[in-house]
Amino acid sequence: MPFDANRSMLPETRPVVVAGGGAAGINAALACRKHFPEKPVTIVDTQTEIGYYRPLLPQFMLGKIDAHKLFFWRPGQDPLLALRLNASVASIDRENRLLHLEDGETLAYDRLILAPGGRPLVPSVCTSQSCRLGVFPVRSLADARAVRRWLPAHRNITILGGGLVGVKTAVQFSLSGFPTILVEKEGHPLPNLLSHQAALPIEDHLRNLGVDIRTDSTIEDIRGDRQGDLKEVLISGEWAICDSLLVAIGSTPEIGFLESSGLLKGGELVVAPTLQTSDRCVFAAGDAVTIRTDDGATHRPWTWPQAISQGKLAGANVYRSAPLALSNFSRLNAQNIAGLPLVVLGGRPDQFGAVSEISDPPRWWREWYRKKDRMVGGALVGDISGAGPLHFKMATGEIIPHDIIKPGATAFSRDTWRHLAQKRTVRFFHVKGSLD
Ligand SMILES: Cc1cc2nc3c(=O)[nH]c(=O)nc-3n(C[C@H](O)[C@H](O)[C@H](O)COP(=O)(O)OP(=O)(O)OC[C@H]3O[C@@H](n4cnc5c(N)ncnc54)[C@H](O)[C@@H]3O)c2cc1C
Repeated sequence: MPFDANRSMLPETRPVVVAGGGAAGINAALACRKHFPEKPVTIVDTQTEIGYYRPLLPQFMLGKIDAHKLFFWRPGQDPLLALRLNASVASIDRENRLLHLEDGETLAYDRLILAPGGRPLVPSVCTSQSCRLGVFPVRSLADARAVRRWLPAHRNITILGGGLVGVKTAVQFSLSGFPTILVEKEGHPLPNLLSHQAALPIEDHLRNLGVDIRTDSTIEDIRGDRQGDLKEVLISGEWAICDSLLVAIGSTPEIGFLESSGLLKGGELVVAPTLQTSDRCVFAAGDAVTIRTDDGATHRPWTWPQAISQGKLAGANVYRSAPLALSNFSRLNAQNIAGLPLVVLGGRPDQFGAVSEISDPPRWWREWYRKKDRMVGGALVGDISGAGPLHFKMATGEIIPHDIIKPGATAFSRDTWRHLAQKRTVRFFHVKGSLD
């Protein structure tokens, strides 16, 4: 067996290795450098470019922002922070604390932070061999660069998937003058975040912006020309002209390389609220993890803000004798969809009774989801007033009166409302779901 310097490394000279340089990985590496300045850190990532805002990729595809605005982090002068780009982790040897890279190299670690994020899902119908060009997942900067090069001569856009990524992408393309079809298999956009009613103002808004929304639909086939360039997609029985198909149906944790690591439980990378895995030297954060709390509940808050806060916590926890726990698992998400504000407080409308407040016609919609009298989630569409205090009440588990969702509700102190300068008129109040 050839001599391997990594194996003989003393633990104190081994670095903290971070596998994955997305929002979670970079924040973990920086937090680790800040809290433990004497410890070297190495970030390993499959891609050649890291440190960019994934949520801005649609604008980048369209040339609305340049590469320099896309990056939230660039390598600096820190001699103890090393990068290994274009390098994939293939497997882990926990006994010897080694990472095996796909190119055959090994890297020793003292502590390991796993932040490999998600892999985009692309249905097999979109990968037809006869049609090799024109289909792109919406996930990485490399794909976004390919879309940017492809677009000038291919302006008929179809986006598959009406979740947050698909909706945001459709809005950007439509606003830039591209004929845009948005295909969603459920009956309304953002089905994992919003109830049917809450999605109505968004659906209206998208149509007004020129997006051709096809709900209850999917892509059944694609076909291209002789060169293999995409030309048409079959949407629920009807062929539509399409030379650029952007796939945004979601992602799945990128954890295949952990299969023999002993860290997966039921196929998931499960961590405690401290972001510690079953191995005390291995932490994990971001879109790849499932967090299990002491009561047995599982949380998968796969959002950009969560990737950042989990990354920071994982980096700060790696050498703590008593690691701190994540305080908030919510999928809080604030968006402005071309002038229509939206705050998702978390939870799923179909799992709990919803208490809602609407305007008529549906220009805005506010609802919260409850378990007994506690708030476990909600959504504010069009009128997001009081989002901060509502989220606070949800996080603190306070008992909440039913009308709290009303803009200007008395459950908040006068000072709060004065501070938030709320002046909204309630048109219609309606309670649905059981009140037990
Ligand atoms: C277009 C778009 C828009 C979005 N908009 C929003 C939004 O508005 N709000 C919001 O909350 N969320 C949004 N998201 C989701 C958000 O970007 C993710 O939740 C977040 O990026 C997750 O961060 P992460 O660090 O866990 O994973 P990722 O960002 O996926 O980073 C993981 C990194 O690990 C690397 N990696 C994977 N496997 C390996 C391996 N074996 N070896 C080495 N490296 C590896 C990958 O190359 C990648 O760089 C959006 C996503 C997209 C694609």
